[in-house]
Amino acid sequence: MDCSLLDFCRQLIGIEGVSGSEKQVADRLEEEMLHKGFDRVDRDPYGNVIGMIEGTLPGSLMFEGHMDSVGIQDRSLWRYSPFGHDFINNRLYGRGTSDMLCALGAMIHALGDLATEGKRNHATLYLVAVVQEEIFEGIGFGKVLDLHTPDAVVLGEASELKLMLGQKGRCELRIETFGKNAHSAHPERGRNAIESMAKVLHRIPQMTCHASPLLGEGIMVVTDIISRPYPGSSVIPDHCQITIDRRTLEQETKETVLSEMRQELSLVFPDSQERLPACKCTIPTASALCYTGERLGGERFFPAWMIDEDTPLVGFAREAMGRVGIPFETGYYPFCTDGSESAGNRNIPTIGFGPSSPSLAHIIDEYVEFNQVLVARQVYREIAKIFRAN
Ligand SMILES: [Zn+2]
Repeated sequence: MDCSLLDFCRQLIGIEGVSGSEKQVADRLEEEMLHKGFDRVDRDPYGNVIGMIEGTLPGSLMFEGHMDSVGIQDRSLWRYSPFGHDFINNRLYGRGTSDMLCALGAMIHALGDLATEGKRNHATLYLVAVVQEEIFEGIGFGKVLDLHTPDAVVLGEASELKLMLGQKGRCELRIETFGKNAHSAHPERGRNAIESMAKVLHRIPQMTCHASPLLGEGIMVVTDIISRPYPGSSVIPDHCQITIDRRTLEQETKETVLSEMRQELSLVFPDSQERLPACKCTIPTASALCYTGERLGGERFFPAWMIDEDTPLVGFAREAMGRVGIPFETGYYPFCTDGSESAGNRNIPTIGFGPSSPSLAHIIDEYVEFNQVLVARQVYREIAKIFRAN
């Protein structure tokens, strides 16, 4: 039976698909794509869903979104149902409405419209729904891009129907200080790793990040700290570790970020001639289990990206927005997206366009203005019709 876009979105919201447990969401997405006439729907070993509609024109365009959501911490704080039961004054409430199951629903129905028309006078179209984006921006998407390299990518992350032309990158830096254990009744016999870290913490606010005319200023902020032993009853700690969240700009790479921080740390510990290093700075790696049993992971570095306003892809999107009758407004995502992989790491032309406001993601009583979902569906369909490979 045919399912309206609203019903389809409500069904998706009704499934709790937190990162690592997306199987039922993936099943429902796959079922809908097949029902809507996609030529193929595949699942990769990590559980990403890849739908495809063949076109008669050369080239390919990939629509992309993530199917995981952040879960519901405390149900009692929600005024509305987190599972899509409440549709009030054109607002659909629930976890994942804004971020970003409704955008995925709109993309599937938009491409499904073209499959149903059957004219095929378009490029080959992909619809990709990835796992674990809330944990690792771009890592799951990278696995899909290892299999298929499209000529361009459209991300569906919330943009309030503006065309997004880039974002700052995100990087985690792990800084460790090393000391020597001793009984705390004799602190002079040890070397206190927390006291060393205090010097680093004192230095951080004095470090300046670069700035970019379009992406704004880079950001550096401490997000956690732990010492060893923990708890440290009567022991001078021999190890202390912090994590720094760095928001990076378009020219910044893993190497530049690391070397700048190491340079700063050499100023904090200028005469570190001891057997143990006083301090170390690295980019940590992390991994997580997918619902398929495979492990997904990588380094915590997700580069910034930007696309020029005069590239053809931006022109196609502009034309599509014009056809649908919405103003052509552009911007930059205030958060990190899967574009870090497609544009940042692989130089594939990438834009972002989605319903809802980024500020409505991850919040209690998350909702989407459903008329924006309907407009996004039209814009996606027009972009798919207009797109031509260079
Ligand atoms: Zn998202």
